[in-house]
Amino acid sequence: MHRIPRLLAAIAAIPAFLVVPVSQAAAMPVTYAADTRDPVVFITIDDGIVTSRGALEYVVKKKLPITSFLTLSEVPGHEKYFRKISQWGSIQNHTTTHGNFADPSTNLHRQICPVQKDYRERFGVTPWMLRPPYGEGAKSERVHEIAARCGITEIVMWDALVDGGPLYTSHGKPLQPGSIILLHYTSTLEHDLRVAVKAARAQGLVPADLSDYLTQPTGQ
Ligand SMILES: [Zn+2]
Repeated sequence: MHRIPRLLAAIAAIPAFLVVPVSQAAAMPVTYAADTRDPVVFITIDDGIVTSRGALEYVVKKKLPITSFLTLSEVPGHEKYFRKISQWGSIQNHTTTHGNFADPSTNLHRQICPVQKDYRERFGVTPWMLRPPYGEGAKSERVHEIAARCGITEIVMWDALVDGGPLYTSHGKPLQPGSIILLHYTSTLEHDLRVAVKAARAQGLVPADLSDYLTQPTGQ
């Protein structure tokens, strides 16, 4: 559970007015919740450490659109699983080895760029969304510049999360249209998915594909 305060702090620290490009030179949107009035939410699942069978069965049964932010180091040998669980959504970039963008010793280029080529070859689609590990460095111009050079057009954060317990939101209110929910590939993923879907349903919201609500680069 130690992740929750840290992950909520990461989003709470960033005022809403920063959900716009931070510089003219490297204009990259940082999205905490999609800008929509449609009755939808977005389920995102990070890392890839555990590949839970029950979670996959639940996603397939419900045909849930999942955006998987995979760490490249967790992927080899589990391609089939991630392709299947993401079949109504997409597979996106969550770095090579989960390096912390706020650590000056992190080689940003090495963390972001090889994933683009690898997933294109492995999954057949080039990522265009990037989620910074721990939510760190989302506003960094250096991150934006390097990510843009490697074909990323969106930094995707979150405004809600489930991590083995109930659903929390950064604003303390229930889920809203456009909310982006953070989950992880852990042993509690099936539980977390059920909690997320139930919390959405309680607000009259349904999971949708995040790709449909952000601006994709042309040619995707
Ligand atoms: Zn992560």
